[in-house]
Amino acid sequence: MKNIVKKVMRASGVQRHHVAAARMYCERHLLATTAGGRSARARSAGRILCYHSIGQSVSGVNDVKPKHFRRQIDLATRSGFRFVPAAQIAQTGGSPTDLAITFDDGWASVLSEAAPILREHSIPWLLFVVTNWSDHKTDWAKEFILPWHDIERLMAQGAQIGSHSLTHPDFGTISRAQMIDELGGSREVIRQRLGFAPTTFAIPYGQSANWPAAACEIAREAGYETVYAQAEETRPSETIPRTFVTSFDRDRIFKALLRGAYDNWEEWV
Ligand SMILES: [Zn+2]
Repeated sequence: MKNIVKKVMRASGVQRHHVAAARMYCERHLLATTAGGRSARARSAGRILCYHSIGQSVSGVNDVKPKHFRRQIDLATRSGFRFVPAAQIAQTGGSPTDLAITFDDGWASVLSEAAPILREHSIPWLLFVVTNWSDHKTDWAKEFILPWHDIERLMAQGAQIGSHSLTHPDFGTISRAQMIDELGGSREVIRQRLGFAPTTFAIPYGQSANWPAAACEIAREAGYETVYAQAEETRPSETIPRTFVTSFDRDRIFKALLRGAYDNWEEWV
């Protein structure tokens, strides 16, 4: 089990060290006080939230417990936010009270834990899959990642699907030929498995250093119209911002997040 956990962490970029996770915990709390206390700069657009797993602690800081996920939805709704499709915010900017929900990686708990809560509230959502993981090419993926027939079930229930690459590489470190494979290849696999070629892509790791300028052009050539980052103001150019929700985000931090306390914050820098 320990070995599998290590493999999951390596593959999905989870913070490997307790020190790094502890640093993130401190940063979240500090910013909730310093940046979240004052009224953040007025935001003119909607906000797209980026989740990963909902109740799979193997994903470390990326995991939000089901009870916290439910609370976050209640809290946002009570605070006057309205849930809309991510595409609506990506295309029009949306209004400051618009919120959208997305999930990266294809974790099994999206089906078992998140989908029922979202269905209960009639909230639209978008899932980005890593095609080699959904193909269950590795043992750890078999254990933790949704297979294609489950992704089809989610689609039938109304979930939108986008690509999150073939193998979840850091685009900041791979060659142009590999970028073409990761972008075009994953789009083709999704077309074969699910019967449509997606036009949305979420950048693995999603921070400023993970998406060189060449990747934008290759993504466009591969047929993608929208590329989602996992950062707000520090995102790579020509990408759509998303706000990362972490395992540390209880009420106080989540409220600060909605006010924009983490809009200048990046996870791995
Ligand atoms: Zn990812």
